[in-house]
Amino acid sequence: MLKRISAFILLLLSCAFASAQAATPQTKTILLKAARLLDVRTGRYIPSAGVLIEQDKIKEAGPLAQVQAHAPKDAAIIDLGTATLLPGLVDCHAHLLTSGTSISSQEIILNAAAGMSPTMRVLMGAQNAREDLEAGFTTVRVVGHSGIDGDVSLREAVNQRWLPGPRIQAAARKLTPPGGQALHLNPAVADQIVDQEFLQVGSADSARKAVRENLWYGADLIKVVADDENRFISLEEMKAIVEEARRAKVKVAVHATTVTGIQTAIDAGVDSIEHGNDITDEQLKTMHEKGIFLDITELLFGGRFRAMIEKRQVLSPQLQQELKAYEQMEAKQTPARIARILKSGVKFTTGSDMWFDYPGKTRGEATALMFGALKELGMSPADVVRAATVNAAEAMGWQDRIGVLEPGKFADIIAVSGDPLADVTELERVQFVMKGGEVVKNALAKK
Ligand SMILES: [Zn+2]
Repeated sequence: MLKRISAFILLLLSCAFASAQAATPQTKTILLKAARLLDVRTGRYIPSAGVLIEQDKIKEAGPLAQVQAHAPKDAAIIDLGTATLLPGLVDCHAHLLTSGTSISSQEIILNAAAGMSPTMRVLMGAQNAREDLEAGFTTVRVVGHSGIDGDVSLREAVNQRWLPGPRIQAAARKLTPPGGQALHLNPAVADQIVDQEFLQVGSADSARKAVRENLWYGADLIKVVADDENRFISLEEMKAIVEEARRAKVKVAVHATTVTGIQTAIDAGVDSIEHGNDITDEQLKTMHEKGIFLDITELLFGGRFRAMIEKRQVLSPQLQQELKAYEQMEAKQTPARIARILKSGVKFTTGSDMWFDYPGKTRGEATALMFGALKELGMSPADVVRAATVNAAEAMGWQDRIGVLEPGKFADIIAVSGDPLADVTELERVQFVMKGGEVVKNALAKK
């Protein structure tokens, strides 16, 4: 809504003040220099690199000598010395408006949806947004757990430059089977709470209505929960969702962990599948043929969940036992699944699914833990970087504006001090962040 209102006001202003405009606005040009630049498409370095930035966009990127020759004499120079330049990172599966302090999903959702005012929640989201940006995430896709429209408000506040944060695509409320997701509530009060967090879908008609309602609140994409325990979105409902979303030219991202949920999403022709735990080779093949993205959300792999939880609570022997069994199961299954995904040729992205308040880490630092997890899962550094940049941009339909360091794209640029192709966990220690031509952070600046 805000977008529409501000567009209207801008139109009025531009009519009223057209004649009063300054003759030539000052062009801000920056020449960014570093030891190398990672071409994420090829996975190769361009040594001794430069990026020429005009206002908020990239004018030229490549070998320094070439770029420098085209730079105006008065360009401001930022020299990052021995650092490596990359495109700004993208988190395809963020929950900026939730900061859980419990191991239980039910408690996390209840605390956020019923224990906090929507205003408080958005302010918390603002803090998480700033922390994401400072860690190098210049774009995020928020896929639910934001209240009715908190992520839309956050997006607008960032776009209006009221506060620092990444570029945001907001999904508003998740569409779920009746009852919402991960909740077991007193039926007498359930709907009131569930409706704060989810749009309940019980028929093709209610599915269409839910999409339209989210669009009215300003959603950029539609997030659907295809499966939750023994409840599913039907194929008829999923098809209705996709049809409504297509009409409005927005994408559909679907949480699906079971074979049934994944198949429903594939058959309805959604844009991306989130998680995909039980995905079969046959399903990967069909996704590849249909061009459906798989968003890999494995941040908590390899004992990372336990490491986080142990910082907050003493684990009971029973919980210790359960976690151990879970870790053994995932150690056996997850690397094999990642190998199957890579072999299948399916398009993939990476998302953090970080919805915890991680003790001792900012939201951005906690989000970046996904890079170490993907490394341990056997994904090559070049694939990890692609997942979080160029692939993510395509999955979001923003390939015309972000994801690569090329002319015409937003100057969303990060730098790390080491060699990310040798050790991709360099992305957990981003030293320099620029968003839209503005320096957000520069730990490489000469003292
Ligand atoms: Zn999630």
